Amino acid sequence: MTDIKDGSILKHINIPVFVPHLGCPNDCVFCNQRRITGHETFSIEDAKKSIDEVVFSPNADKHAEREIAFFGGSFTGIERPLMTELLELATSYCEKGLASGIRLSTRPDYISDEIISILSKYPVKTIELGIQSLSDRVLSASKRGHTADDSIRAMHAVKTAGFDLIGQMMVGLPLSTLTDELYTMTGICDCKADGVRIYPTVVFHKTELYDMMLLGKYQPISPKEASERVAELLYLAYKNDLPVIRVGLCESESLHSEDGLTAGAFHPALGEICFSAFFLKLFCARLDTLGDLSGRSVTISVARNMLSKAIGQKRSNAISLKEKYSLSKISFVTDENLSGYEFSVS
Ligand code: SF4
Repeated sequence: MTDIKDGSILKHINIPVFVPHLGCPNDCVFCNQRRITGHETFSIEDAKKSIDEVVFSPNADKHAEREIAFFGGSFTGIERPLMTELLELATSYCEKGLASGIRLSTRPDYISDEIISILSKYPVKTIELGIQSLSDRVLSASKRGHTADDSIRAMHAVKTAGFDLIGQMMVGLPLSTLTDELYTMTGICDCKADGVRIYPTVVFHKTELYDMMLLGKYQPISPKEASERVAELLYLAYKNDLPVIRVGLCESESLHSEDGLTAGAFHPALGEICFSAFFLKLFCARLDTLGDLSGRSVTISVARNMLSKAIGQKRSNAISLKEKYSLSKISFVTDENLSGYEFSVS
């Protein structure tokens, strides 16, 4: 897995170990963690197998920074003996030089002084917190079981202890508006997070959100609306120098199985569509400063790995810009001197 950071591709690999629903007594309305991760059961042997598959793969990139990443549940809520066993297992790979550190995801209310002190004894580098929203109204409607203050406190505790902090937030939760989501992104930026993941809400079978949808109490967000809202969040993150390391869930078979995903913001190219919408905002902000462009021919140069995002699916950005500014022609080219979201207009 490669992450996008500052718009450029990092040589960073997460070695994912899914710990489905372990340690989490909660039932957030949107969560069917077993379904999302595609793993129904879990054991230490499973964890070892997942790690071995990556570190001993003949295709393994030995130069990449590799973190053993406990995803899928609330890691710091796992009963202590198993949590410690998992940390020790991961540490053994780090000590042999097969991994560079440990990454884990957890709930904000499962961060305490005691937990920070345990994690500090191991090569834990990165803690991902499921913030989801900094609106208590949205948290309550989603039955998250914690408050926005819990999240702020946890983010500060993680940073103060010297870990890298990744905030995970959602778009389109019950009662959530774009204003709530921009407020959440602002809070994550203010807490000096090192990155953010943005997950537009999808509706899974066997979740309370699914029942709410059937009862008309929840209106799922469409991929189009999600991309427009995410583009605003990407723009805000960009202005705050906050790297966005993922948009949308990973594709897995369970997302497409009959009893998996049912509605909401899922599209195989959702991340690409969101980044394209973000680029459109960037381009408009620049072109707006250039006076009357009617009848002119414009060329936009971008980094090589950003070309398809800049042009947009089915040339959507090219079409929008040509229409909006009455251009005679618009072209997109790559420039080796540009990286990330940099671009130039001529
Ligand atoms: S805290 Fe995480 S694992 Fe637990 S129910 Fe909520 S989303 Fe699922």
